[in-house]
Amino acid sequence: MLKEFWNPEAETMPLNELKELQLKRLKKLIQYVYDNNKFYNKKLRDSNIKPGDIKTLKDIEKLPFLTKQDLREFYPFGLVCTQLDDIVEVHASSGTTGKPVVGPYTRNDVDLWGEVMARSLYANGLMKNDVMQNSYGYGLFTGAHGFEKGAQKIGAMVVTISSGNTKRQINLMKDFGTTALACTPSYSMYMAEVAEEMGFDPKKDFKLKIGCFGAEAWSEEMRSNIEKRWGIIAHEHYGLTEIIGPGVVSECKSKKLHVNADHFYTEVIDSATGETLPPGEEGELVYTTLTKEAFPALRFRTKDLAVYYEDICECGRTLPYQSRIKGRSDDMMKVKGVIVFPSQIEAALLKVDGVSNNYQIIKTKKGSITSLSVEVEPTESRYKEGHLDDLEKQTEDEIYSVLNLHVPVKTIEPKTIPRSTGKAKRVIER
Ligand SMILES: [Zn+2]
Repeated sequence: MLKEFWNPEAETMPLNELKELQLKRLKKLIQYVYDNNKFYNKKLRDSNIKPGDIKTLKDIEKLPFLTKQDLREFYPFGLVCTQLDDIVEVHASSGTTGKPVVGPYTRNDVDLWGEVMARSLYANGLMKNDVMQNSYGYGLFTGAHGFEKGAQKIGAMVVTISSGNTKRQINLMKDFGTTALACTPSYSMYMAEVAEEMGFDPKKDFKLKIGCFGAEAWSEEMRSNIEKRWGIIAHEHYGLTEIIGPGVVSECKSKKLHVNADHFYTEVIDSATGETLPPGEEGELVYTTLTKEAFPALRFRTKDLAVYYEDICECGRTLPYQSRIKGRSDDMMKVKGVIVFPSQIEAALLKVDGVSNNYQIIKTKKGSITSLSVEVEPTESRYKEGHLDDLEKQTEDEIYSVLNLHVPVKTIEPKTIPRSTGKAKRVIER
């Protein structure tokens, strides 16, 4: 018989037992980093913390945060708690805003990654008999590797195609009978566009049933567009190089993002004060890795805004869950006193009939004043109808109803915005 959860013991552990386990692991972790890493040792001593001071989970709040700044300072291996010789795999972020973040893994860390990714993909419905087309870019980036490890652990067939060469993707999808697609959400939409150009009907001509999407911010409206266009269920994946890569959460059938909390301890804090907020309140996610060896993260500030819940989920998992990321505080724009996240604009655009999922937000800065405008491609059929000023007006009204802000919208000819095979560039600065 098929099991309902990948790891029933961990995924359905009563919350009080889970918290006991977390505390046990946290105590062990503090002793471990104190004994094995100069930076952590100094950081703890500077805050007057000795490993024995951690007696309850709440005591974690006494510990200092770990920030991206710290990671840059100790680039590349300054935070490693094992011998360099024990590291068997290394990943890194793209480093577009400075030095890359390096993620080193021991053999046990690699196994842990496979385990949490297997939980996550199994929760999406990926089984042994599935064929997963892995169209995340292979390379230093964690994405493709995490998905591969998890899917192989389940026993699914992994097609290691990487991103790009989209016509070939479509042909292989057909020939190999792909049932699950792993890539960025925007790339899945571009694939659908190419499949249609090649004369296929994405809904009918393939065996695809599951989408495992992540690595970029996407709205619920985008999710439902992808689901309709491909005729699949689209799942969100979330993770960070600093924590383990993808696999921090598992999205279940009820589309709740369960944190793999036996390995990753979550806090939500007020970004401004650093104070920990109770479950149910929105704030910045902070994670502590409870079991990693090479590079444990202690209270890492993610800059991602979300809500954390300890409520019951109908799927049967008892693991706490978090909301989808509202926006990275880095992506946040302040326009005429209004806080704007790109995903809010996306959500408004996709509510308008005749607007496609291809858009760009143009951010212009004049002195200290930021202004926004949007360029969007209508669908082919809507473009042919003409009267595009009506569509522009309608879209501006929709954005206004969400943000209470007037953002000018310009329609442009279909297929003029560059397509991405990885993370889509939605905000352009001019
Ligand atoms: Zn659930």
